[in-house]
Amino acid sequence: MKNSVAEQNKSDVYVSRSNWPPYTYRDYPCINPETYKSFMEFLSTENTSKKLMELQPWISICDSRCAFCYFPTTAASKAQIEPYLDTLKKELEMYAKTKYVETSVFDEIVLGGGTPSILTAEQMIDLISFCKKRFTTNDEYFIKVTGSSKSFDTKKIVKLAEYGVYQLDMGAQTFDNKLRKLLCLPDPAENVEQAIKIARKLGICVCVDLMYNLPGQTIESWISTLKKAIELDVEIDCYSLEVYPGTVLEKQIRSGLIPPLGDAEYEKQLYLVAYRLLTDAGYKAVGHDRFSRVEWHFKESCLNGWPWAGQLTTGAGCFMGYFQRFSYSNFEDINEYMAAVNAGRLPISRLSESTTEDMMRKVMTRLYLRLPVSKQEFMQKFGKLPEDVFAPQLQRLKEKRLIEIDDTEIRITKLGDIWKGNIAWEFAPKPKN
Ligand code: SF4
Repeated sequence: MKNSVAEQNKSDVYVSRSNWPPYTYRDYPCINPETYKSFMEFLSTENTSKKLMELQPWISICDSRCAFCYFPTTAASKAQIEPYLDTLKKELEMYAKTKYVETSVFDEIVLGGGTPSILTAEQMIDLISFCKKRFTTNDEYFIKVTGSSKSFDTKKIVKLAEYGVYQLDMGAQTFDNKLRKLLCLPDPAENVEQAIKIARKLGICVCVDLMYNLPGQTIESWISTLKKAIELDVEIDCYSLEVYPGTVLEKQIRSGLIPPLGDAEYEKQLYLVAYRLLTDAGYKAVGHDRFSRVEWHFKESCLNGWPWAGQLTTGAGCFMGYFQRFSYSNFEDINEYMAAVNAGRLPISRLSESTTEDMMRKVMTRLYLRLPVSKQEFMQKFGKLPEDVFAPQLQRLKEKRLIEIDDTEIRITKLGDIWKGNIAWEFAPKPKN
């Protein structure tokens, strides 16, 4: 079984892997008065989806800038933390008062960003407590905090553990110090290890981001990073590095200061190395890029409920908010964000309202999330089967052995796992000429 992916993969079905699906924030149109009105009307209705939601207050502030980062964050030196936190609570409160949110239940509170760990433990706990007070949580719910090993000091981790934080998400990226320097990561690998060890000792689940296909990264370096993560007993989000225009990394590569990324074949090999190493070590591939052994990661509602559940994302620069057919991102500039909230408006800058056709296509992107598409649910929502709407795409993918279809569902195959981004794009609308 172990070699079957490599065997199947000898004849590639696509030229290169797509690491992102369609319908991400990159495609959202700018908000206009009609879509804002429509969204506000939607928020005044009851949530009848019966799906649990995720609540994400973002602290889009960082104390250093990673070379590859394209997120719209504010430098800690330029941010006024307390006024920002007050504004964030105001925005959360605006949502909390709507009928849709009043009738919603959340099973995750996630401090995202940015680097929420730049806050004091007291500030983080105060924000989470506010969320717990103003939103309805499920009997079983989880608190996650994102951050960097540089600002997750021992005292902070202990306080968060005592408060009941379940998971710390850390952008470790690599344990290779040479590559850490090149990516301008703020501290050496030894610091990351230390923070992880403290959290694990206190029983906190740790999930680290690791990136592959870094400039000059050898297979040996990648394997050694993966082995270190396994040894540290953490869950892992594996991302392929994407170089965005305007980032420090892009400029350095363009000027020849550092080598370019590996080609599509090398990138795929690095992915396959991770897949084999981690699945052999007992991890299961789940969601868009995660390898985990944690039961709850397989059940998370905002993932499993896609696209019918919801993610209430708040804060400057947040871009992953969705409520069923609505997806949105907020103002990136912290001052613009604060001005909008303080003027009593939701600080949304881009808002997309999906048509029924878009929703059908979005349901098919469940395959990208390694989730099955239930024929029964599709029929309930749209009065048709996926085969009635996407016959040519399904036939093509089946012939390529990328998906399996039975009487109840459509799911990706083991070979399809490599190409799940490409699979999702098969269901995207054709670009207009
Ligand atoms: S910590 Fe995250 S958000 Fe902040 S600069 Fe690095 S990658 Fe960007």
